[in-house]
Amino acid sequence: MTNLKVLISGASVAGPALAYWLHRHGFQATIVERAPALRDGGYAVDFRGEAHLTVLRRMGILADLERVRTGTGSMSYVNSAGKPQAELPADMFAGDIEILRGDLARILYDATRQHTEYVFGDSVTSLAEDAHGVTVSFEHGAPRRFDLVIGADGLHSTTRRLARQPPRARPHRARLPHRGQARRAAQRPPQRRSQGRLLLRRAATGCGPP
Ligand SMILES: Cc1cc2nc3c(=O)[nH]c(=O)nc-3n(C[C@H](O)[C@H](O)[C@H](O)COP(=O)(O)OP(=O)(O)OC[C@H]3O[C@@H](n4cnc5c(N)ncnc54)[C@H](O)[C@@H]3O)c2cc1C
Repeated sequence: MTNLKVLISGASVAGPALAYWLHRHGFQATIVERAPALRDGGYAVDFRGEAHLTVLRRMGILADLERVRTGTGSMSYVNSAGKPQAELPADMFAGDIEILRGDLARILYDATRQHTEYVFGDSVTSLAEDAHGVTVSFEHGAPRRFDLVIGADGLHSTTRRLARQPPRARPHRARLPHRGQARRAAQRPPQRRSQGRLLLRRAATGCGPP
């Protein structure tokens, strides 16, 4: 399963981090990012606890993060005369390492650009999957073939939208009640039983709740 060609949509945090691990495991990653260049905006993001630090260490970027950490200290609330009223410790806000999101994106990009192909200023427009892979069309570039396509393009992911087929074209997924449900349904009064059947029928035809 190595040497597979993987397309990742989105070059923010998840995309480059995934490309890093894919490369470590022998995959070839291409990242397509809609923005014309790496997006360096954002405020502070925190890493907390041993799990986070271990991942950063294993990726070999912990020292890079430490170099650009914000160094946020404790936070004091003062009254109108400037006299401290309360103090909140630094680790409450900054975790173990606090870094600007743009710095994190840059570090992940630098850690991957030697082995990852980055295509900026483009976006996936269609995905056609067959038994051997996926043909991907782009807004600007020529269509290409990949073994796998992964969406890391945020909350309103284009990849997720394109990968989801319209409900009618979905393969038939009958939802059969397990034995306990069937027994309980048989014990219900007739009216409720028919509602149960209606729900099942709706689910099977794709017109009801998922
Ligand atoms: C500019 C920016 C600033 C941010 N600032 C902060 C912050 O200060 N604090 C905080 O906690 N979180 C911030 N976030 C959110 C934070 O980065 C993410 O919520 C979190 O890190 C998850 O990252 P992600 O890589 O999954 O998705 P995101 O960070 O949302 O990145 C998605 C990426 O996909 C790209 N993309 C979107 N659609 C397409 C498409 N059709 N084709 C190709 N590429 C596409 C976007 O341009 C973006 O680069 C910010 C995100 C961005 C993009």
